[in-house]
Amino acid sequence: MVATKSVQSDTLATDDPTVQGGYFVLGNTLPEQLFIAEDFDEEAKMMAETVKAFCLKEVMTPFYQTGRELEVTNAEDKAEVLAILKRAGELGLCSVSIPEEYEGMGLDFKTNTLISMALSHGLSFATTLGAQTSIGCLPIVYYGTEAQKQQYLPKIASAEYVAAYALTEPQAGSDANAGRTKAQLTEDGQAYLLNGQKIWITNGGFADVYIVFAKIDDDKNLSAFIVESTFEGFTVGPEEKKFGIKGSSTVQLFFDNCRVPIENLLGQRNGGFKMALTILNGGRIKAGAGGIGGAAFAVEKSVQFAKERKQFGKAIAEFGAIQAKMANMAMQTFANEAACFRTADLIDRKEQALLAAGTPSNEAKIKAISEFAIEASIVKVKGSELVCYALDEAMQIHGGMGYSAETGLSTGYRDARITKIYEGTNEINAMLTVGELSKRALQTKELDLIGAGKKIPAFILSQLNPFRDKRDVMIQTRIVQGLKNAFLYISGMAGRQLKKKMIDEQEIILHLSTLLQEAYVGESALLKVQKLARKPGHDPARLQIQQQMVQLYLYQALAKGQKAAFDAIASFATGSQQKRHNRMIKRLLKPYYVNPKELGRNIAKALVEEGGYSY
Ligand SMILES: Cc1cc2nc3c(=O)[nH]c(=O)nc-3n(C[C@H](O)[C@H](O)[C@H](O)COP(=O)(O)OP(=O)(O)OC[C@H]3O[C@@H](n4cnc5c(N)ncnc54)[C@H](O)[C@@H]3O)c2cc1C
Repeated sequence: MVATKSVQSDTLATDDPTVQGGYFVLGNTLPEQLFIAEDFDEEAKMMAETVKAFCLKEVMTPFYQTGRELEVTNAEDKAEVLAILKRAGELGLCSVSIPEEYEGMGLDFKTNTLISMALSHGLSFATTLGAQTSIGCLPIVYYGTEAQKQQYLPKIASAEYVAAYALTEPQAGSDANAGRTKAQLTEDGQAYLLNGQKIWITNGGFADVYIVFAKIDDDKNLSAFIVESTFEGFTVGPEEKKFGIKGSSTVQLFFDNCRVPIENLLGQRNGGFKMALTILNGGRIKAGAGGIGGAAFAVEKSVQFAKERKQFGKAIAEFGAIQAKMANMAMQTFANEAACFRTADLIDRKEQALLAAGTPSNEAKIKAISEFAIEASIVKVKGSELVCYALDEAMQIHGGMGYSAETGLSTGYRDARITKIYEGTNEINAMLTVGELSKRALQTKELDLIGAGKKIPAFILSQLNPFRDKRDVMIQTRIVQGLKNAFLYISGMAGRQLKKKMIDEQEIILHLSTLLQEAYVGESALLKVQKLARKPGHDPARLQIQQQMVQLYLYQALAKGQKAAFDAIASFATGSQQKRHNRMIKRLLKPYYVNPKELGRNIAKALVEEGGYSY
């Protein structure tokens, strides 16, 4: 496998203000500043194709041939999963996020995201390989000493070593810093003794290297350690029996005076919690990407089936009910993909900007990922919701056949469900989007959300201008802006009224997050079609369908945003105050007059003509 790096689009500057986390709420991004799937170079595309081909050959085809999914609770299947991972290592697929100096490919973040999308063809193997290339090895890539990198990374890159990430404990799930696993320095000062337990550890049943988080003495925060499976006092529990991703190893880990040499402390003492969050931020985008890849697969299968299956004398693809489902799945996939690559590229650009300013490589990577925590959570929440929704609809389109193990949809349906739970539950991620924005507005003062909120009345006045531009693109831009402004308006009003109590009003925070999510994904999709419209040689018929997808997305985003806004207001205001707030929202989020039925039919027709999904 040839080492490859995706090149930056030459239209992208590394020092523009859009390379700031949360900036999308305040400012505008130009279509040229958006990285889209079409911008990937041939090497990146080839890499993703290699991953897809590997998954089809090693996982998908045997699955369809035998009609049986791999289950690691069965020892033979477990050995087979490990063998597949080793073969992936031989092809270089475990090295994608490891720098070249440690025998990795050193691919940039967005190419890794593209690979995560392709990995969705590997069913539960996506979790196995994903843990190896992401949460299992990145703590060493980002935080390791030179000696630690030399010792572990080449072996993880080749899959000689399997890697795992052990954060969760029985009493510490979402509240990860509440872990009770303890580390104490031995009397000779040469090692730490680890005592405690971890649960739900992916790859844990056959890993060689574990990133284990524990508190040293009575520290407030976690520290991280590299634990090898051969270390004294370390044991692994049996495989969990799970609802889905049955081919992925998930176990408990036990530490009973487990002796870890002091040189295996990873990063700074007390720095483990920050490390855990940084790693999860990166993992979230890849989890979202996997969801988007899974959704594209669900559309593809649905279209193929709906074309063939006849009822009442015609193909079910000719029925409006089925067309609406296919169109919705496709349109959501298209929009979320735009947001996903946008975020991954922002991380790359931030890293480049930091490197150019002289920031050391590790620090640049960490800062770049942390910068886009808000966008990463949006991609994760939306991507995971999308894949669960799309597989449910695909199953419905297949009728009884969808429920049969033969089509593989029931496996995909079960496998998809975990994405809403791991890498931080969707509730935690959704609340994080608002919490992190507030922090950047009120504590670090990086984002002037309050100043932007004050400009909203002027914005509303501009909307009252009778000569306003009625071109669809302007109306679409106003919908996106309206969603952002509704967020600013409601967060300002709710904050003013609830003050410190706001933090406990999770229902309101979740409604605010919906506004953010819809603004970010809607804007990304809109910018993507604007960029494609200017791209020489882009097929006009294809562009027309993509534009219709954006119309349909924004139509639905607006409805979702309106509901979230009114629900939020009703949760903290009553009487005349509530009416006043509602009037403001009605001005910010005005109706969008498109015909969703016709849009759905047009999109579905294009999908059927094409025989799948390639947007
Ligand atoms: C198959 C699988 C693989 C996994 N792999 C790994 C791995 O490799 N490494 C690892 O470290 N962990 C792993 N996990 C653990 C996973 O990250 C956790 O399950 C997840 O973070 C949720 O923690 P929990 O299960 O304790 O749920 P809890 O935190 O108990 O949450 C239960 C519910 O309460 C909600 N909730 C919790 N806190 C709040 C709050 N403050 N406000 C509102 N709602 C809240 C949650 O959203 C959720 O709906 C894995 C889990 C599974 C199932």
